[in-house]
Amino acid sequence: MESDDHFCPLCLSPIKHEADFVFKGRNFYRCDECHLLSVCPDALPDAQTEKNRYLNHQNYGCGPAPVLVDLLKRRI
Ligand SMILES: [Zn+2]
Repeated sequence: MESDDHFCPLCLSPIKHEADFVFKGRNFYRCDECHLLSVCPDALPDAQTEKNRYLNHQNYGCGPAPVLVDLLKRRI
């Protein structure tokens, strides 16, 4: 595991230790201050990759409207 200085995305404390573990090729770090488990920002997907992944999902959303519309369409 490599040492990779970066900051906790929650409390902004510096993370200066080696990765706590590696999962699917990405280093994960536990913040010494707030204990948030995060991945190194360098391992996050770029905006276009993230959008393509999102568009590949068939989500219902988190509000009642999208689910309600889908249920009503099934009854027609
Ligand atoms: Zn933190």
